[in-house]
Amino acid sequence: MTAPTKPKPSLLIHGIGQLVTMDAARRRLTDAWVRIVDGVIAGIGTGPMQPRAGEASLDARGGIALPGLVNTHHHMQQNLARAYPPVADLPLLPWVGKMNLLWEELTPEDVQLATEVAMAELMLSGCTTPSVLWASVVKSSPVPGPEKEGVTAGLH
Ligand SMILES: [Zn+2]
Repeated sequence: MTAPTKPKPSLLIHGIGQLVTMDAARRRLTDAWVRIVDGVIAGIGTGPMQPRAGEASLDARGGIALPGLVNTHHHMQQNLARAYPPVADLPLLPWVGKMNLLWEELTPEDVQLATEVAMAELMLSGCTTPSVLWASVVKSSPVPGPEKEGVTAGLH
């Protein structure tokens, strides 16, 4: 049995310049609003909309709103050695072979930092749902899980 979860506050995002719905008709609405209740989209529409009593609101006038992007293949620990000069120009397989030697030396703290950087980059790029891959073995354990960072960072 799991503990009951606390309902999340409601939010009305209104005045959206362009709302990309990604529904079956691929509608794009102008002067639109989105109501989010308990973390779920409860309604969308166009025109003026006032927040309900106790509901937070966000004026998104002139902005664009679209569903969060999904990254289906992300190696978060690789953030720490991106463009590592000694191997940066190698073809894929020799690069992986050399990088595995480096990734094996990562500590849990290194992986924690890489995960935090990766989550920030994902959020800044519009990604709300990453699928995380751990392709190399880290000698030290336990490795902090990205799901912990996801909770902290607000990702799924
Ligand atoms: Zn991969």
